[in-house]
Amino acid sequence: MSTTSLLLVIPCYNEQEVLRETTAQLTALLGSMQQSGLIGKHQLLLVDDGSKDATWSLIEELSQLNPAISGLKLAHNVGHQQALWAGLEWAATSPYEAIVSIDADLQDDIEAIREMVIQYRAGYEIVYGVRKERKTDTAFKKHTAQLFYKLMSSLGGEVVYNHADFRLMSRRTLQSLVAHPERNLFLRGLVCSLGYRSTSVYYDRKERFAGESKYPLSKMLNFAIDGITSFSVKPLRLITLFGIFILLIAVVAICYALYAFIANQTIPGWTSLLISMWLIGGAILTAIGIIGEYIGKIYKEVKRRPRYFIEKSANLPQ
Ligand code: UDP
Ligand code: MG
Repeated sequence: MSTTSLLLVIPCYNEQEVLRETTAQLTALLGSMQQSGLIGKHQLLLVDDGSKDATWSLIEELSQLNPAISGLKLAHNVGHQQALWAGLEWAATSPYEAIVSIDADLQDDIEAIREMVIQYRAGYEIVYGVRKERKTDTAFKKHTAQLFYKLMSSLGGEVVYNHADFRLMSRRTLQSLVAHPERNLFLRGLVCSLGYRSTSVYYDRKERFAGESKYPLSKMLNFAIDGITSFSVKPLRLITLFGIFILLIAVVAICYALYAFIANQTIPGWTSLLISMWLIGGAILTAIGIIGEYIGKIYKEVKRRPRYFIEKSANLPQ
C-alpha cells in the first residue's frame, strides 16, 4: 500500500515558550513515521491566532529552517475554534490525504498520531483522539467537563466523550466539514454530526509543559454554552413544556383557591390574585415557548447547513 500524505494543523496563541519543542517533537515523530513507511509527504501548518508575543516571528524562523513547517498568521485573535477552522479550511483544498489537528502545547500524546494514521489506513475516515483519564486536570475541570458532556448528550448534541480537538480527518470529510457556513463553531460536535466511518484512539493527557492555559473558566463556560446552543433547540422546547406544566399547576391552584373562597377561609382579594398569578404566569411561559419554537426553526434555517453528504455510491450511470 502506498504511503499516506499527512498534514498537521496546530492553532497557536501566545505559544512562544512551547513552539520550538513542539515542532521538534512533531518533526521527529513524522520523520520516524515516514521511515516506517506509514506516511509520505508531510507538513506542519502552524496557525498563529493573532498572538501578542513572538509566536509569529518564531514560526517564520522555524519555517525557514525546515521546509516541512509552514505558517498562517491571522490578523486578529479569533479564538481556538476559528483559528483551527482557518487551518482546516486551507487543508481541505490542500493535496494532503489525512489531516490531524492538535494543540500547540503537547498536552495530547503525539504518539497517538501514529495510531490515528494506522486507523486511517485501515479505512476509518475520522479518528477521534480520546483521553483515557483526566489525571492531570484539576478535580474542578474534570467534573465540569464531565457534566458538560452529559448535558450536551442529554440535549441531543452528539459528542464523543472526552474527545477534544485532537483528531484525524480525511480530506473528504474535511471538505464536508468546511461546507458548513455557520459562524458559531463547535467543531467537536460538528465533526460528530458528519457521519462517515469513524473510530477512536485512546491516550493519556499530559500537563502543559510550558506556558499557561489559554482557557480560563470564563472561556470554558462560554464554550460550553456555545456548544449546547449551536446544536440544540431543546432548551427552547423546555420553555414550552415548563409553561404547560405551570398551566397544569394553575388548574390545581384555581381549584384550591375557589374551594378556600367558598369555604370562606380567605381574606378579600387573595383568590383573584392567586388565580390570575398562576394563569398569567403559565400563559406567558407557554407563549414564549411557542415563539421559541419558531425561533428554533429560523435558527436552523439560517445556519444553512448542508443537508447530506454522499459517502459511497454503487453502479451509478455516468
Ligand atoms: N488557542 C488559540 N486561540 C486562542 C486560545 C487558544 O489558537 O484564543 C490555541 C492554543 O495556542 C492551544 C490550543 O488553542 O494550541 C488550546 O489552548 P490551551 O492549551 O490554552 O487550552 P487547554 O488545553 O487549557 O484547554
Ligand atoms: Mg492545552
